[in-house]
Amino acid sequence: MTVTQEGPSGEAGEELEVWIDQDLCTGDGICAQYAPEVFELDIDGLAYVKSAADELLQDPGATTRVPLPLLRDVADSAKECPGDCIHVRRVSDSVEVYGPDAP
Ligand code: SF4
Repeated sequence: MTVTQEGPSGEAGEELEVWIDQDLCTGDGICAQYAPEVFELDIDGLAYVKSAADELLQDPGATTRVPLPLLRDVADSAKECPGDCIHVRRVSDSVEVYGPDAP
């Protein structure tokens, strides 16, 4: 069962979240170009996900929900990421759906 914790996530459906492995981030900024609402480069030159309140989440492995209207942009970011370090997974069972560990 999926519980919506914060913010509008669109209609009922699979809730997705995204996190970045900064150890592999090359800092090219492609993700922030695709989905600036979700990704941002910090002054350390690495990309981080942002909360629904637009705060940079800098804890290792921090996740943020993927707003449904931005799913395509976030999925494209994961596909194009040169570091292979953007992970999009289902909230319900943590299975990766886009990213290097997706089936
Ligand atoms: S696209 Fe990937 S490697 Fe490039 S800044 Fe974003 S997370 Fe880092």
